[in-house]
Amino acid sequence: MKITLLGCGGSAGVPMVGGDDGAGVWGQCDPSEPRNIRSRSSIVIEGDDGRRLLVDTGPDLRSQLLSARISAVHGVFYTHPHSDHVAGLDELRAINRVIDAPLPIAANAETMAELQSRFAYVFQPWNGEGFYRPVVEPQIVAERQFVAMCGLGFSVLGQRHGRIRSLGLRCGDFAYSTDVDFFDDGTLDALANLDTWVVGCFQHDPHPAHAWIDLVLEWRARIRPRRMVLTHMGPDMDYRTLCDELPEGVEPGFDGMVLESH
Ligand SMILES: [Zn+2]
Ligand SMILES: [Zn+2]
Repeated sequence: MKITLLGCGGSAGVPMVGGDDGAGVWGQCDPSEPRNIRSRSSIVIEGDDGRRLLVDTGPDLRSQLLSARISAVHGVFYTHPHSDHVAGLDELRAINRVIDAPLPIAANAETMAELQSRFAYVFQPWNGEGFYRPVVEPQIVAERQFVAMCGLGFSVLGQRHGRIRSLGLRCGDFAYSTDVDFFDDGTLDALANLDTWVVGCFQHDPHPAHAWIDLVLEWRARIRPRRMVLTHMGPDMDYRTLCDELPEGVEPGFDGMVLESH
């Protein structure tokens, strides 16, 4: 199984729009380090048969797929309905054209309702003609459910994300857990014995809706993944500083990073 981190930034990306000269707000991140340029968080999981599952459709989706040289995906899993994870849904039209079919999407009931309210037109049945809009086939999934999609089988993991629930997934010995600040014991048990764990870690200091460094290290001490990769990082997470300060087995992700897991 091959996993590509399409993006590993927080909701505003790095750099954030702004700055005295318009060059962006970099926070603690060194602008000369290319791995500090972070688009909004999303991954692609490619199974052994070459089919791919996209996790989330953030506003950077088009440029992410082009940069990663990924020409098609065969299903989408949504973690939650925040804009940095759904606002690029319209870019799925290009995928419809490549695969010449409606695209299956999976989300929990709350996220699907939000998508139906914000993107009602993509849920209209396809008339078999050209794709002048995205066309999706919705599948509601629930926490602790096992889902089969585009040749992959994965468990849906429940998470707390501030005031809402978000979803993670475990596929084989790989798991993706972004936009989370608390796991119940059942989810922590489901994350045991991982080979590779990609986990959201927004900053150094505590945050009301996202994990921070000390918290993800506490989780790691309990579930003991072989390799842990941080994602959804904000502007105080300088790549090289993190490489120096994180313990062996934990590393910051970067846009375009490719991971192999089983
Ligand atoms: Zn987010
Ligand atoms: Zn979020």
